[in-house]
Amino acid sequence: MALSKVSAAGLETELNPMQEGDDMPSADEPHQLCWFCHKKPATHTHTQTNFSEMVCATCLDRLQVQHDYEHAWLHFLELENEERYDEVLAGIDAFLEANRHRDHDQWLARSVAMSRSMVLFEAGRYAEADEACDAWGRFPFDNVTDRWFHGSAKAQIVHALGRPQEALAIFEEAFSHQDPRYDSSIPYYLHWLVDFSDAVGQPVDEKWRRVAEAGAVDFAVEMPVRGSLGESMLALAEMTQGMPSKREREWKAKHGGGTGEGEP
Ligand SMILES: [Zn+2]
Repeated sequence: MALSKVSAAGLETELNPMQEGDDMPSADEPHQLCWFCHKKPATHTHTQTNFSEMVCATCLDRLQVQHDYEHAWLHFLELENEERYDEVLAGIDAFLEANRHRDHDQWLARSVAMSRSMVLFEAGRYAEADEACDAWGRFPFDNVTDRWFHGSAKAQIVHALGRPQEALAIFEEAFSHQDPRYDSSIPYYLHWLVDFSDAVGQPVDEKWRRVAEAGAVDFAVEMPVRGSLGESMLALAEMTQGMPSKREREWKAKHGGGTGEGEP
């Protein structure tokens, strides 16, 4: 059965110069650059459900691999729900082997490594999950949130292996890598500090207060005052859920609504 919904339809397409690309500065660029890598000239149209962008041939291939893998997971998820973990693992490995030649930036290899770790964790095979998680961590991280996500997964495994102190240390190390561009993701990860600190009977270390506050600033809210730092963090995570981040507010102020920074 064909997995690809995108199929080859995007391979031979018209070279549409983008007419009204929102954030595509073009004044001093003779050729439009690929939307995805920003390096090579854009020569192909990549279409997804709600948008299409001009990309280079390599990135088109890479984006189709991602789409195909995500689509394949519809089937893997069914197997996982039926606890047929070995079939999931065999399936994702086979997918990688069949598509390795299209994996131009190792997105697929890294994703499969991550999937292996998560499936093995789900299966309760923690020692194997731990190994797979380390293999996943040997791929470079795209940004700090990738690192936080990996750290939270690794810490959960180590916690499940009965080493809660180490789990806390692992997550704290990952979360110590901060980048202001990703401050809006901070609130979402705070509960891990609370959970892993709870597990060893410790309050959340005060050193994390300024990180939580940076998350609050991004959402333009005051840090909620509660009985402990951990409770304040959980309250912040709850109140910022679904709120627009600084970047989203700025984008909207520039492009939409026209009401500037205020409420619509
Ligand atoms: Zn490209």
